[in-house]
Amino acid sequence: MSSGTALASPLSQADEFNPFLAMAERFDVAADHLGLDRGVREVLRNPDRELTVSIPVMMDDGNLRVFKGYRVQHNFVRGPAKGGIRFAPDVHLDEVRALAAWMTWKCSVVNVPFGGGKGGVIVNPRELSKSELERLTRRYTTSIMDILGPDRDVPAPDMNTNEQTMAWLMDTYSMHVRRSTTAIVTGKPLALGGSRGRTEATGRGVMISCREALKKLGMRPENTRTVVQGSGNVGGIGALLLHREGYKVIAISDVSGGILDEKGLDMPAVLAWIKEHGSLADYKDADRISGAELLELDCDLLAPCATENQITSQNVDRIKAKLIVEGANGPTTAAADKKLEERGVLVVPDILANAGGVTVSYFEWVQDRMGYFWTEEIVNSRLEQSMVSAFYDVDKVAKKYGTSMRIAAYILAIDRVATAYRLRGVLS
Ligand code: NAD
Repeated sequence: MSSGTALASPLSQADEFNPFLAMAERFDVAADHLGLDRGVREVLRNPDRELTVSIPVMMDDGNLRVFKGYRVQHNFVRGPAKGGIRFAPDVHLDEVRALAAWMTWKCSVVNVPFGGGKGGVIVNPRELSKSELERLTRRYTTSIMDILGPDRDVPAPDMNTNEQTMAWLMDTYSMHVRRSTTAIVTGKPLALGGSRGRTEATGRGVMISCREALKKLGMRPENTRTVVQGSGNVGGIGALLLHREGYKVIAISDVSGGILDEKGLDMPAVLAWIKEHGSLADYKDADRISGAELLELDCDLLAPCATENQITSQNVDRIKAKLIVEGANGPTTAAADKKLEERGVLVVPDILANAGGVTVSYFEWVQDRMGYFWTEEIVNSRLEQSMVSAFYDVDKVAKKYGTSMRIAAYILAIDRVATAYRLRGVLS
């Protein structure tokens, strides 16, 4: 039974690419399995708070430009909002809403005491100088800081933002509140209270998810032809860790297109190339392929680690992978999901597979608040423990309800948030 506001039927093709509607469609299916009542459903499905800001920035040439930014806080029931900040030219409010909601579900799946939030600024960071980016980041932080705080909302990096962006954010917030507040943000440099293991955490979580999924399918890493879309923090590091575990990574891409080597790519050399040249374009020791061809390669494992809406109703019939592990948020549309499920393709969903990042972000926040920092071995072993137990928690729910791992992850997540909501009750 869907509530009055829920989507009555699968999304139309035009809506297929709206990430918030895609999130809501899965939410409704999971909520139906849980028999979630109408009121709680409405509370949990929709964002708690949305802020849109204009960000004036003095450009290097002396002209003033105004950028638009968002911060959406989806839910605080289990703890402060937590989620990254994305700089991209195509950021839009429904995307940020979806990303914020996915953060709520992701934190719940791995059982860290956070809610979900997300931020975005409409900007192509490649067109800005470093000092313009710094001014943009600082002014955006100032504009949203009334709703930020270590106990309220804790940002982190996402696409096109990094440790340096987080350092600027932390400094800006700290200068305003007149004390160094390291726990305001995660994904910071180690020198500013960052956590060991945070940079690799999402890629490591993807690698752990691949390993556990392979066990389920009775496959071995050395026989697993692997394709990775995206070669940034998640895809690049994920591919490197998979390569180290013996997977044959035959192709990887970035926004400029992909590279293919049927014998297996030399991943350390590929990453060294990207570090030196800033892109995969012109990489010499492999064949060039397009981004679309990469997704459709004959492979066993496909890890989309770039952006939303990559596996859709338009290309799903040509996707050959037996296993899809989602490093990116929302790479598979709801329509494509159904076809993959019918074909028996195992999809380890984003809210489980890429939760390594937020797990170590939580560890970073805990370390900042204790003022006591852990070794990389401790971080990695706690991450390992958390990812493996979340994987089997989701697997158990999938078996209990007879659903895909995606719907099972939503069921697990929504149930935990709904339980907390009912226990807290409603302030009138
Ligand atoms: P990033 O900016 O470090 O890297 C993004 C990569 O994707 C780059 O290689 C870029 O060239 C490529 N890319 C972008 N658009 C593309 C397109 N249309 N086709 C092919 N490649 C494209 O970003 P990231 O941090 O690696 O994030 C990637 C995804 O993972 C996003 O969906 C993000 O929300 C998600 N994610 C990131 C983290 C994290 O800790 N960084 C955690 C969880 C989820």
